[in-house]
Amino acid sequence: MSDPQRREFLVAAAGIASLATMSAQPAVAGDPSFMNNVPDPALSGKDLPAFKFALEKSEGKVIGSSYGKEATVTQLPISKGIAGVSMRIEPGAMRELHWHATAAEWAFVIEGRVRTTVIGPSGFAETNDFDPGDVWYFPRGHGHMLQCLGDKPCHFILIFDNGYFSEFGTFSITDWVGHTPRPLLAKTFGLPEAAFEAFPKEEVYFARGKLPPAEPSVPLQGWKLPPETHKYRLLAQPPYSTYQGGSEWRVDSSRFPIAKTITGVVLDLDPGALRTLHWHPNADEWQYVVEGTVSVSMFGSHGRYRIEQLDRGDVGYIPQGYGHSIENVGEKTARILIGLNAGIYESIDLSQWIAGNPADVLATNFGQPPELFARFPNHDVFVADRIGPGK
Ligand code: MN
Ligand code: MN
Repeated sequence: MSDPQRREFLVAAAGIASLATMSAQPAVAGDPSFMNNVPDPALSGKDLPAFKFALEKSEGKVIGSSYGKEATVTQLPISKGIAGVSMRIEPGAMRELHWHATAAEWAFVIEGRVRTTVIGPSGFAETNDFDPGDVWYFPRGHGHMLQCLGDKPCHFILIFDNGYFSEFGTFSITDWVGHTPRPLLAKTFGLPEAAFEAFPKEEVYFARGKLPPAEPSVPLQGWKLPPETHKYRLLAQPPYSTYQGGSEWRVDSSRFPIAKTITGVVLDLDPGALRTLHWHPNADEWQYVVEGTVSVSMFGSHGRYRIEQLDRGDVGYIPQGYGHSIENVGEKTARILIGLNAGIYESIDLSQWIAGNPADVLATNFGQPPELFARFPNHDVFVADRIGPGK
């Protein structure tokens, strides 16, 4: 390279470097979509990675007859956007007071009864009792506890809007108090240091005691209810939609205003029925099979296609924007719990995409006669039964 050439090269390189700095700065500082635009190494391979994890077959954390089993990026590397937990609590036990620094918590009760307390900013606190089919949502950072209500165990599924979040890395009250110097505690609460002598020194996680009272007791501060409730009775509502082949219950922030980062769906599919091909433009999808056996397909561009069979207690994960479907391949009704990490439900269905285009466009795209497309549905199929879409 001659000197003038070198100089030109250096000037051009400096220009590119400063351009790169200029464009990168605002994206890193303030644009949340920036992260979505960087290729995810887990999804950049020649083949799609596994998107299934046998959650209920995993060991988890067990204390007495209570357990928590989790699916995070450690167990299921593809699931960067959402983590989930299956938790069972025995009568008299509670998942102790704690908060999550890095995730909001959404839950669906499968069995038994649960009581929760939750505190938010400004001292607003709520106590709620939950039955099967009910849902709660705790915004990121809000302190809460989960308690088995009554003399039968309870079982529920927790969904977190961050796949890196671990249920075993929460900020628990005993962990904090147990590691705080007693003079600090004494000053905070206006009690002698000796009052804290017998407090637990390490995180309790599942605390065990008497059965809770049938009705919630008044908090020390009296009732100071928040403007938005943390409870939603999902299965007590009529389904959001019903089809020949299945029903769907859906709750997002349009019905449950506090749930600003997670949408929940319960999908019942008859044997042979299919939640048809679709994608979510705004969210990742986390699946938990409550009942039955389903076949989940995933399309990831570049000819990449993968199908997993999910049995009862298994978890599946579909990244934002990836095409997918869910088919009941078992003998009885399948029930799938679905969590999406967005406060508003959005999907685009392949059948509706086709229906949203004229026959000549479809004819040219597929190299088929236009008449063929007159036989396609002119609407969103959403769920098809064993033999196909209803009319
Ligand atoms: Mn929690
Ligand atoms: Mn979906």
